[in-house]
Amino acid sequence: MAQSLEKFRRAPRIFAAPEQINSNDVVLSKEQANHIIRVLRKKPGDTVAVLDGQGRAWITRIKSCSKSAVTTQIVESVPNPCINQRSVQIALGSLKGDSLGVVLQKCTEIGVEAFHLVPAERSIARVKDPQAKLIRCQSILTSAAEQCGAFVVPRVHIWERLDDFFKQVGCPSRYIAWENETAHDCRDIIKDLHPCILASGPEGGFSEEEVKRWTEHGFKPVSLGPHILRAETAPIALAAIALCVTGCSFETTIDVS
Ligand code: SAH
Repeated sequence: MAQSLEKFRRAPRIFAAPEQINSNDVVLSKEQANHIIRVLRKKPGDTVAVLDGQGRAWITRIKSCSKSAVTTQIVESVPNPCINQRSVQIALGSLKGDSLGVVLQKCTEIGVEAFHLVPAERSIARVKDPQAKLIRCQSILTSAAEQCGAFVVPRVHIWERLDDFFKQVGCPSRYIAWENETAHDCRDIIKDLHPCILASGPEGGFSEEEVKRWTEHGFKPVSLGPHILRAETAPIALAAIALCVTGCSFETTIDVS
């Protein structure tokens, strides 16, 4: 396992759709072929790691190539090293400028598996075109997953109504980061181990009424310490705290009984 994972990490990584992957070969798209051949200067016989985005990955070798088409041959499968990783989701108010992209990228590297953009009273950024926003966020997530070697591309959901978001939350463990919390802190998140969803506020923070509403839906307020973290820092800190328990250690088995 370690050998195939090392090859996986050294090779360029491409997420391919199921219809591109058959029993022996993978047919890369025009854009993927262009990236592999013209940008990375790969040639027949070179290794390319292919992932299906659903947790499976293979080491493949370029079999035939032209500027617009590349076919690779599957050599071996690669076991997912994060199979035991804790399931962590992040809910956050939309952030202005590149801040949201930074959060999506860094939290993907850390191991977050899903993101929920939720309405917040003090969000400066407003989601004007949810479909366009979704496409842009998903592109950031796919690039981040390819770069860091994640086996699954995180999902992103944009919620126009907070009640709709609350209705679908399935995680047993729910936390909301709140700078005014004095009784509980991030140790609660670490001790918990269960799949969790972590909420962080927009640049203007959460109002007391908002925190009360989140609490009514099972979210426990936690402090991240005495400093006021930026809206783009807090979600990354939350993800790192929640995933420090399992990380990607191969032998970690989490007993959540
Ligand atoms: N209200 C803050 C800004 C909010 S920062 C201010 O007065 O400047 C954006 C979000 O980060 C907050 O809504 C909260 O979810 C989180 N956050 C920042 N610092 C935190 C802390 N020390 N403890 C818990 N959450 C924090």
